[in-house]
Parts: sequence; structure tokens; C-alpha cells
Amino acid sequence: SDHQLVYPPHPEQMDWSTLYPEYVVKGSEETPAEETSESTAVIPKLLTQDVEVADIGCGFGGLLVALAPVMPETLVLGLEIRVSVTQFVEDRIKVLRHQNPGTKLYQNVSVLRANTMKFLPNFFRKSQLSKIFICFPDPHFKARKHKQRIVSTTLNSEYAYVLKPGGIAYTITDVPDLHEWMVQHFEAHPAFERVSEKEQEADPCVRIMRMETEEGKKVERNKGQKYVALFRRLEDPVW
Ligand code: SAM
Repeated sequence: SDHQLVYPPHPEQMDWSTLYPEYVVKGSEETPAEETSESTAVIPKLLTQDVEVADIGCGFGGLLVALAPVMPETLVLGLEIRVSVTQFVEDRIKVLRHQNPGTKLYQNVSVLRANTMKFLPNFFRKSQLSKIFICFPDPHFKARKHKQRIVSTTLNSEYAYVLKPGGIAYTITDVPDLHEWMVQHFEAHPAFERVSEKEQEADPCVRIMRMETEEGKKVERNKGQKYVALFRRLEDPVW
């Protein structure tokens, strides 16, 4: 349950150093001098750059592993609620890093156990992300109550908060009703506009989302349909 989930009270208190050890600022590894036994405030180690891409409900990590070499200068994070699945992805990335010694390959991707429906703004500052992937969410879409869905009016406001203007929310599903639901809710949200099909098809991330996610492969094997929709985070209106 969520009681066992560890999350920072504020993004500035998130320690990313164990997730992206190759990106830790040299010198920030040492305990700061001002930290005494009386001050219990955690001062996290600094990274040379911020996480910019999030994969919501990353499952077994197919998208992460495929994105790693395509955007080698960008830090990508998978968020997954299931303990064993998160562990699997962690091990998968560890192996890939070991197989590429002396390079930064796969150092830019990592995974974290989290409930993205609750704690997204605890991990990311406003406008921190440039891309959010929501790939094959909610397999039991119909049975779920509105509030439990990964795309909703409330959650879209959280995605809008952590996405920077111009950033993109990527969605894909094989469930037509869920596709409709996601399109309706993103289009109705004042912070988002749908990306044109032409631009969508020209985006290399769309092919990866279709072909490299575990669910995308499964749907491919079963010769099923995949429905894709992208939404751009608009500039905030000037009042
Ligand atoms: N995105 C992957 C793919 O396309 O292959 C996995 C899709 S799988 C059908 C949905 C995943 O979302 C599952 O691994 C599930 O555990 C995870 N998930 C569901 N609700 C979540 C939540 N609130 N926070 C984080 N992960 C969640």
C-alpha cells in the first residue's frame, strides 16, 4: 500500500544520486560541513542536470531501455507501483550499465517505485519535464471508477504542472474507449492542445512507444490496434 512508499516532501529534497550515479556533481558526495547531529535536514547530493522525461507506469521498462540511447543527454525516469516489477527494471538497467563499462550508456535511465496518481509533484518541480509517457495504462479501464483512472481532469492538472510549456504528454492504448477518454480529457483541459497527426507521426518517440513497450509488443503479436494521441503543454495564459 501507499504507506510503504517513500517519497520526498518536496522535489528539492529528492536524492537522485543513487539513481543516476554518473550524473552526481563532483564534490557534492561529501557530507556538507554545516550538517551537525542537531540538524537532521537531509541535503541531497546534486546532479549535473534534472530528470526531464517520465514514463508513468513503466511496467518492465521496454520504453526506458529503448529511449536511453536515443536521448543520451537526457535523464529519463520510469515510475512503477509494483515492487517486483520495479525491482526487475532496476536489475535490467544495472545489467545494461555493466555491459557498457566506461560509457554513459544506460546511465541516463532509472526507475523508481511510486504511485504516480498521488505523488508526482513531490518528485518534480513545476515545468521540470519535457515529456511524459502514459503507455497502455488502465487495462481494466471499464471496471475502474473515474477517480482511479490515470488520466482524469485532476491528474491532467498535475501533468500540466510538471510539464514545461511546449512539453508533450504521449498516450497509447489498445482500448478504444480509453483512447476516447484520454483524448476527451486532455482536449478539454485548458493547458493542453492535441498534436497534429503529421507532427505525431514524425516524432521518433511515437515509433518507440508503439514498438518497444512490452504492451505494444503484445498487441503487435495479437495483431491488435494501437491508438496514439499526443498533447502539447500550452503556455500559461497572461492575466
Ligand atoms: N507502460 C508499460 C507498457 O506499455 O508496457 C506497462 C503497461 S501496464 C498495462 C500498466 C503499468 O502501470 C503496470 O505495470 C502497473 O503496475 C502500473 N501502474 C498502475 N497504476 C499505477 C500508479 N498509480 N503508479 C505507478 N504505476 C502504476
